[in-house]
Amino acid sequence: MDLTHRALGLHTTISRVQGGKLKSKKEIRIASLFKDAAPEFLKMIVVHELAHFKESDHNKAFYQLCEHMQPGYHQLEFDLRIYLTYRDLQGKAAE
Ligand SMILES: [Zn+2]
Repeated sequence: MDLTHRALGLHTTISRVQGGKLKSKKEIRIASLFKDAAPEFLKMIVVHELAHFKESDHNKAFYQLCEHMQPGYHQLEFDLRIYLTYRDLQGKAAE
């Protein structure tokens, strides 16, 4: 779990037994805080999660896949971290 995942509570794997077989499916969930986030971030999160369907780790192949789907991916992920930190600080200031 990286910072982005912890902050968003993203990509869960659901396992359940169906007809005697164990089935797993992956779900993409986007936290409600992203309702008011920039659309670029939403796209970035979806790209990140889609890449995880193929690569489970944050390795080189994973990031190459992200960049392939969304040029400039690295910059967006960096921006997202700043955005989340900013929101975090705002939340603390309001307490
Ligand atoms: Zn990830």
